[in-house]
Amino acid sequence: MDKRTFLKTGALMGIGTAISGPVLAQKTFGLNIPGNPSIADENGEYVLPPLDYAYDALEPYIDKETMVLHHDKHHAGYVNGLNKATVKINEAIENGDFGMIKHWERELAFHGAGHMLHAIFWKNMGPQQGSRSKLLDDYLKKSFGGFDGFSSLFVSATNSVEGSGWGILGYQVGADKLVVLQAEKHQNQSQWLTLPILVCDVWEHSYYLKYQNRRGDYVKAFMNVVNWDDVSERLEKLTGSYQQV
Ligand code: MN
Repeated sequence: MDKRTFLKTGALMGIGTAISGPVLAQKTFGLNIPGNPSIADENGEYVLPPLDYAYDALEPYIDKETMVLHHDKHHAGYVNGLNKATVKINEAIENGDFGMIKHWERELAFHGAGHMLHAIFWKNMGPQQGSRSKLLDDYLKKSFGGFDGFSSLFVSATNSVEGSGWGILGYQVGADKLVVLQAEKHQNQSQWLTLPILVCDVWEHSYYLKYQNRRGDYVKAFMNVVNWDDVSERLEKLTGSYQQV
């Protein structure tokens, strides 16, 4: 089945809008690829996850009115924007018209990053503080010398984010350690829960000697050297391990 037939089949089945690749594949080929139930429904449409606690549960630290606005208006806005960008990008694939792709990719990153980070943010907080696991403490020790080192770094890094953004504690795949990052405007970092399985470097140093300003020729050439075994293996590892936000 070629790409156009594939997309049309999806559209005929009534799932031509707001669909993700894996979900379409699942509907079309009967593959058993689950979506992420906490940020998207079974059709791949992004949804606003409900809070696990009452709007006033974080009082007096975070007030009810802020929580209502933040969750019901701001986060909901990201979900709507992400679904819209997804529809537009699917339309572009279907029509073969990528004239507006830069705009919709920016929208996808902006709203997608907002949706995913907020989904984590609500879960990261709660009326009960719980306790750190031994594993978490071991990683904090390995990465920052201990909880106190992490805590002072996280607070000062987050305080000094320029303009709008986030303080983020993240796990570095491969290096197997934790790092603290500042996200200035979350979209500049793409979508935080989206882990790369195929990347193409388009900094000029990656093609300038041979292709000079002809980036398009280089990208076309790149597609002839992609190692699909590697891409497939990366997907296999990720789909098994990280289904839930
Ligand atoms: Mn927010």
